[in-house]
Amino acid sequence: MSGPIRLGLVGLGKIARDEHLPAIAAHDGLELVAVASRNATAAGVANYPDLPTMLAAEPEIDAIILCQPPQVRFETAQLALAAGKHVFLEKPPGSTISEVEILRDQARAHNITLFASWHSRWSPPVAAAKYWCASHKVTRIHVEWKEDVRLWHPGQEWIWAAGGFGVFDPGINALSILTEAAQQRFRVLDALLDFPVNRAAPIAARLDCVAENGAPVLIEFDWRQTGPQIWKITFEADDGTHVFQQGGESADMVADDQESALSHEYIAMFRHFHTLIQTGKSDVDLSPLQLVSDAFLRGSRINSEPFYD
Ligand code: NAP
Repeated sequence: MSGPIRLGLVGLGKIARDEHLPAIAAHDGLELVAVASRNATAAGVANYPDLPTMLAAEPEIDAIILCQPPQVRFETAQLALAAGKHVFLEKPPGSTISEVEILRDQARAHNITLFASWHSRWSPPVAAAKYWCASHKVTRIHVEWKEDVRLWHPGQEWIWAAGGFGVFDPGINALSILTEAAQQRFRVLDALLDFPVNRAAPIAARLDCVAENGAPVLIEFDWRQTGPQIWKITFEADDGTHVFQQGGESADMVADDQESALSHEYIAMFRHFHTLIQTGKSDVDLSPLQLVSDAFLRGSRINSEPFYD
């Protein structure tokens, strides 16, 4: 492919504006040529209300970046792949495993790149945790992902709807780190999912799991955390402990001349997407989504007080 890879982006919301647009602009080999969004437009590119209109008007686009909520991503992904475009899926890659498997097979059948992205895996401390796990016999893991939903997801209705994942929307980031660092599969033995009575997705969850090597794994997600926010995974071995900790800064929390940790992850992901396209490969790992699915299959449901933004 000569010249930059031409991109179209669908769903111009928070993550597209905060991270995708700057990360694309920072890569010489990528060029954003169009955006499809129902209620928003981007400066300096062609704007369309939806993907079919964009594809019809911009046939030279090479790849499509999908940043809408997971519930509505499948149809657009299928359409983009059917048009021969490479596809970048925001996390989670879909709202069910089956739909992502269909997309993966569709991409494979047509030699198109499909990238199911997990941005949290691109944080440098994940590589350190992976190295530590490879050089120790891990005997116990504790995941604590506790944040204030009012601070991080104000007014996001889709996240509370079925298929929006609730507290598993940030929680799946922890699961993507866990699966990457430990390089093991996990079984969910028991789970407790706490649904506010007025919402279709959980506000908290506790998962009792076991790693393939027999190590017990306790996973605690909670969206009611006020005060210090906790994004922490503790890996224990007989001869030591390794603590993975994630900072909480985002694009709007750092000075203009600084790159946030999240921005670093997106810049690395777009470099990876560019390489995948150039080498004719895909990257689709469903293990974090599988764990979420297993928690819903295996878990008991309790109801707690209603949640209002
Ligand atoms: P958002 O701002 O609430 O939504 C993204 C955009 O999707 C909306 O602005 C909307 O644009 C479009 N959209 C299309 N169909 C929609 C529907 N049925 N309901 C709502 N919006 C719809 O969400 P976001 O925070 O950017 O998150 C999008 C995806 O990125 C999620 O999967 C999330 O997990 C992931 N993500 C988010 C963050 C974060 O910090 N926010 C970080 C990493 C990953 P139009 O109305 O203009 O069409």
